[in-house]
Amino acid sequence: MNAKRIIVVGGSIGGLFAATLLHRAGFDVTVHERSIHGLEGRGAGLVAQHEVFAILREAGFEHVARIGVTAPERIYLDRAGEIIERQHMPQTQLSWDVLFRSFRELLPDERYVGGRAVVAVTQDAEAAGVHFADGGVEWADLVIGADGIGSLVRGAVAGPHSCPDYVGYATWRGLVPEADMPRAAADQLFERFAFYQMPGSHILGYLVAGADGATTVGRRRYNWVWYRRYTSDELGEVLTDIDGRRRPYSLAPGRVRPEVVEAMRAAAGDVLPASFREAVRAEPRPFLHAIFDYATPRMVAGRIALLGDAAFVARPHTAMGVAKAAGDAMALRDALIAQDDLTTALAAYEGERASVGRSIVAYGQRLGRSLG
Ligand SMILES: Cc1cc2nc3c(=O)[nH]c(=O)nc-3n(C[C@H](O)[C@H](O)[C@H](O)COP(=O)(O)OP(=O)(O)OC[C@H]3O[C@@H](n4cnc5c(N)ncnc54)[C@H](O)[C@@H]3O)c2cc1C
Repeated sequence: MNAKRIIVVGGSIGGLFAATLLHRAGFDVTVHERSIHGLEGRGAGLVAQHEVFAILREAGFEHVARIGVTAPERIYLDRAGEIIERQHMPQTQLSWDVLFRSFRELLPDERYVGGRAVVAVTQDAEAAGVHFADGGVEWADLVIGADGIGSLVRGAVAGPHSCPDYVGYATWRGLVPEADMPRAAADQLFERFAFYQMPGSHILGYLVAGADGATTVGRRRYNWVWYRRYTSDELGEVLTDIDGRRRPYSLAPGRVRPEVVEAMRAAAGDVLPASFREAVRAEPRPFLHAIFDYATPRMVAGRIALLGDAAFVARPHTAMGVAKAAGDAMALRDALIAQDDLTTALAAYEGERASVGRSIVAYGQRLGRSLG
């Protein structure tokens, strides 16, 4: 069996990487993404690892690797806001949105279907079927599950009970337009990668591109990320959104209940140095991601393959989510080109990427030991 017609479930960065590479390699690929409004404008910065540079080079987008905001040094603060350590360690954050937009443009519009949620994936000897919330079904030789941490496709590969494990902490995050940052906080935090560590928690922050990808002074945003511990019961509370619905993984800007935001701001006042406290207060709509570990026991079952966060969810300390998705996409494309036989190609893909995914998840667990 070969893989002429391919359906990718999930049109974020992992799904787009796979779809664009396979489209360019001559496969008949369509992406189905459940989000209606598109994903642009919602990402922030990402630290590029070598897989990201490799996929950019392949796509002819070397210039995107230069669209970033560089923090020339790292600083560590104490509770009083004094800088207790400085490291000359330049780090560039690429723009997630520019990356997303660049790859999205490589795919003809008719091959990227937004606003269409997949509710089930089935397969038989002849084809895999993708079943949509609108009642439609489409058939393909290969289905790629690039549907992220809450992957539905995962159930068809790893079984219905293979789920991410909550690790005991969550991140609060803000993206403040630089003009909205109080002067004193901006003076201390801008042009730096800043950290404040406390027992069982830390906060960090850096400048990233504006929502439109702009990296010029005045148009950037300050991105802060505050790691806080929550028991499972507490997590249930904070992840209950403004409509009273308990969400499994995260809440987008504007979805966190006001009293939960207030409690977080009050805690910021109690425990953070002034500059970070002001950065937290300057964000009117902070958002929340609970942190999970997941390593799939299998990346492939028959005509269905997992990629990116659907297969392995690594903690954000690794900064490897996008690089892992890029590595998966390149390996899958290479395997499908090298082998006409789909079973052989998918076995080669899994053979190359499963151990990489597992080791990145384990690396994240080591990095998170002080928090979890
Ligand atoms: C909006 C957004 C912004 C992000 N910003 C950053 C960032 O700034 N920096 C960074 O390092 N990482 C960011 N990430 C995370 C990073 O992109 C991922 O860790 C990594 O790229 C792996 O991505 P993925 O494509 O495997 O999964 P995800 O990025 O989680 O994407 C999964 C996609 O599948 C779609 N989907 C889920 N279920 C279904 C379904 N049933 N039917 C159809 N579609 C479905 C989702 O809507 C989503 O678009 C962001 C992710 C998102 C979605």
